[in-house]
Amino acid sequence: MDKIEIKDIDVEFYFNLIKEPNLGIRRIDFIGPLRGLENLMTEYFSLKLYFEYYFICLVHKHFEKIVKMSPKSIENWCKYIDKKYKIKFYNQHGEKTNSTKFTEKLIDALGYKKLQEKELKIHFKKHGINSCVYCNCQYTVNFINNQKEASNYQIDHIFPKSKYPFFSVSLFNLVPSCANCNLNKGSIKFELDKYCHPYIESFSVLFNFAIDEDIKSLTSVIKKESEIKIEITNKKNLKVKNHDELFDLTGIYSNFSNIAAEIIELGRFLPKSKREELLNKYNSENSGTKLIPDIETLDRIILRAYPNSNAHNERPLSKFIGDIARYGDYF
Ligand SMILES: [Zn+2]
Repeated sequence: MDKIEIKDIDVEFYFNLIKEPNLGIRRIDFIGPLRGLENLMTEYFSLKLYFEYYFICLVHKHFEKIVKMSPKSIENWCKYIDKKYKIKFYNQHGEKTNSTKFTEKLIDALGYKKLQEKELKIHFKKHGINSCVYCNCQYTVNFINNQKEASNYQIDHIFPKSKYPFFSVSLFNLVPSCANCNLNKGSIKFELDKYCHPYIESFSVLFNFAIDEDIKSLTSVIKKESEIKIEITNKKNLKVKNHDELFDLTGIYSNFSNIAAEIIELGRFLPKSKREELLNKYNSENSGTKLIPDIETLDRIILRAYPNSNAHNERPLSKFIGDIARYGDYF
């Protein structure tokens, strides 16, 4: 939900990681993308399927560029492909055709499935992404199950790999998503003008959660929690509107009125002055060792979220909790 910050050095690291299969950290059954493409070139040349052969050569030639390509360039390439190869290259209705088969083979040759099992997951964790980038409601975590690496999330291709298989390993086309958001997104026609791109802009900056002002005058918010209506503001903004509709955020977040009530009550119970008092007392009792360094850390411990901007991806509901806390005069 926050913008994903990737440095040049990380882009290089990612590229080198996927380029060569023999870095010592790879399973021996993995065939590197360049070798995979070369094998596919041989196969399609011998089949005399020259259009496909030409296309594989193109991907092989521009492999490095494709892996590192910016979202804007990816979109431009998609538009070009749509215009030039629309009918021949893929089937819009998802039917199994020779083109679909070719799409699947190209994804396999690029090693996406193997990459998805390991490196991408390490990459996302390295960047502190522990929740779905589209809804910020679900954890996206890795774990070990029966001695095998597993995870509870899916990897979404912003520009869908069913239509654009050559971008299946492009770094700026890959994000961790919960199953629900991935399903809702499906293979929509993604456009940078209409939707928020997690590598370009932070959706958290564009929109906010709000509740009815009258709630503040209630003696006990907890008693009235079922009446709290949660709204997403700024829906006049096209990207906010589209994002909300696509992922049904209004519907999902309407379930969290109990959390909103607790945050508002907590703000009354522990206003900032009281929290600062508690923090000073606690730190002085620890004879100069600041176990809780500042009020922001204390707020994180109390709210069980990362309410400050640029850290929403670290824990689910961080954006929501941060907004309601501000709204409820917690801060
Ligand atoms: Zn989600």
